[in-house]
Amino acid sequence: MKAALIGVGQAGGKITERLARFDAEMGFDAVRGALAINSATSDLQSIEYVDTQLVGADQVGGHGAGGDRDLGESLVESNVQQVLDELEGRITSDVEAIFVIAGLGGGTGSGGAPVIVDALQGIYDKPVYAIGVVPGHNEGKLYRVNAGNALKTVVDAADATLLIDNDAWHEQGESVEGAYDTINGNIAQRVGLLLASGEAVEGVGASVVDSSEVINTLRSGGIAALGYASAPASEDSAENVRTVMTVSRQALLTGTSLPDATTADSALLVVAGEPEIISRKGVEKARRWISEEVGSRRIRGGDFPLESGRLGALVLLGNVDRPGRVEDLIEEAWAAKQASDGDRDDAEEDLIDDRLEGLF
Ligand code: GDP
Repeated sequence: MKAALIGVGQAGGKITERLARFDAEMGFDAVRGALAINSATSDLQSIEYVDTQLVGADQVGGHGAGGDRDLGESLVESNVQQVLDELEGRITSDVEAIFVIAGLGGGTGSGGAPVIVDALQGIYDKPVYAIGVVPGHNEGKLYRVNAGNALKTVVDAADATLLIDNDAWHEQGESVEGAYDTINGNIAQRVGLLLASGEAVEGVGASVVDSSEVINTLRSGGIAALGYASAPASEDSAENVRTVMTVSRQALLTGTSLPDATTADSALLVVAGEPEIISRKGVEKARRWISEEVGSRRIRGGDFPLESGRLGALVLLGNVDRPGRVEDLIEEAWAAKQASDGDRDDAEEDLIDDRLEGLF
């Protein structure tokens, strides 16, 4: 899938850079254009691989939003036209989808990403997806409350929102901050493979996955999740039937970006590896298993031919059903608002329910 990437804020910029670099180093060429925007000059200085743009300089003089998402929204809004102008040359006619990437726990990305998504939706006749990083359990309360406040706005604005829990893609016991490099590397590899999977070489069999499968899987909107696992391939084909099944299971059960997302409207299974090694029987078995596990018959699938001694499985879930982590963050944001506004009454409890209903 040919994609344009826009990173908003610190996490958004770093992840965008990493993803663009992975795509180029692998020679995939799925990323056709990328830009990182931020209201903090110091954060932009560390970005070397993609172009950058400072926003809100008139208001905060390059000092950032300080974790204030209302301020972040206003800083991005004040320069939205310049951002769109800057993006024009990067969102070329061959681009099939636009990805707006941000940490939902901060200020600039959390407040600004929905502004950019909205603006792009108004101009381009292509899907605009968000990739949102959700703070881990032990991150500060401000981050969690910001994320809870951002979720509905982002999910409503984007054609689909791929969520990545900062607790998901690093070793247990490692602090989130200490693991940024690992997490960002994993996001770059996994999302990078997903984008590249639709770009597979011409002339190979009909089982090769196409970009439209990704778009169709995300068509029902809402929240998406991505799982990944890999294992060494074997010379023995019976063994590879088992390996395809094992990595597909691991991708969904232990390798997902949103650990408590298990049921979904649709799913896509991409199996990556040497074409002659990918076991058709294994792929069929894995698809049936995923269908039962996620509770949907809309399970698309395809191969991603890749020179590798390993077999990998990517499982994309479209419109997942009420992940507990998301509900908890929204509840916590409401509780924080009530604590600052006075006690929460029954009418406000109903409002939380409405907010959750609207989200799923
Ligand atoms: P902003 O610059 O105001 O948009 O704020 P940040 O992007 O720093 O957002 C804060 C949230 O993003 C917190 O949940 C951080 O843990 C997370 N975050 C910051 N930097 C990174 C990073 O490099 N990788 C990941 N995965 N998360 C990050």
